[in-house]
Amino acid sequence: MKNGKPSEFALIRSIQSAFDGKTPQGVLGIGDDCAIIPQQSGLDTLVSTDMLIQDVHFRLEEIPPFMLGWKSAAVNISDIAAMGGTPTATFLSLALPENISGGWMADFVNGYKEISAKYGVALLGGDTTASANSLCINVTVLGTCPCGKAILRSGAMPGDLICVTGVLGDSATGFAAGLECPVLLAKHFKPEPRVREASVLAGTRGVHAMMDISDGIGGDLRHILERSGVGAIVDTDSIPMSDLMKQTCQKLGLDPLEKAISGGEDYELLFTMDPSCKPEIDYTVIGRITKIPNQLVWDGSSKDFQGFKHF
Ligand code: ADP
Ligand code: MG
Repeated sequence: MKNGKPSEFALIRSIQSAFDGKTPQGVLGIGDDCAIIPQQSGLDTLVSTDMLIQDVHFRLEEIPPFMLGWKSAAVNISDIAAMGGTPTATFLSLALPENISGGWMADFVNGYKEISAKYGVALLGGDTTASANSLCINVTVLGTCPCGKAILRSGAMPGDLICVTGVLGDSATGFAAGLECPVLLAKHFKPEPRVREASVLAGTRGVHAMMDISDGIGGDLRHILERSGVGAIVDTDSIPMSDLMKQTCQKLGLDPLEKAISGGEDYELLFTMDPSCKPEIDYTVIGRITKIPNQLVWDGSSKDFQGFKHF
């Protein structure tokens, strides 16, 4: 114990005990050199990893530790959902600067634990180290889907409808508004991955391409166009936005359409499907896939929107 802070091993033990009893039967989790996950026949394994860096992705003085723990798992679980998969396990690696207290860490682990329990995801390992300056969080997530049934970015076809779940721009508007609008700020700090909706879409014939919206559709839709070799017309009047978000943008002198298209971090699903498809989830049609490779037209607006840029 140093300055009331748990040692690396005490911290690992406390994380391990927080997740005690949550490891699925037949799986070896935290405590050995490796985790062991038996192969399951008929299923593909999905793997993704995401890094969250202090002062690049979050500010320690702004985000409550519980929500940072939640968000670290949420953005990874969302990547599995984006393929139509079922998230099963995560690995959590932490580089911790001196100023992180034991209490802060406990709240972080609680947030991570709450969303893991909600989606039945086991924490099976990770790494813990000191850091000279910033807090770095790396999460690796594993998931499964029936062999060959993952929904890729590359499957969009001319004539497909372009659709999104939920509303767009709440997160970015919340980030801009800060404590002036705690409801929207919570959507930025504590996003909800669309696991249920994604699994319905994965089981619906005619859903051709899917991804989660992390950088805003201005950037993310371009990824689908590039990978699929198609174009798109988006009807900007049909982009779903919450009333609270529109009011907040008006109050702050922000362009709501800009926040909805370029703001990012909504973690809603962006997908394309045959017009005959009627998936049983709530969604909004925002446009159509066209034949012209990489041509993205914003119908109803004179602006050319891009996605959120991290660099
Ligand atoms: P090694 O020396 O092999 O890297 P560690 O002492 O780092 O082993 O880790 C011991 C066990 O604790 C391993 O099972 C590892 O996966 C797990 N572990 C370490 N850090 C974390 C963490 N932040 N979250 C979850 N599990 C962790
Ligand atoms: Mg280690």
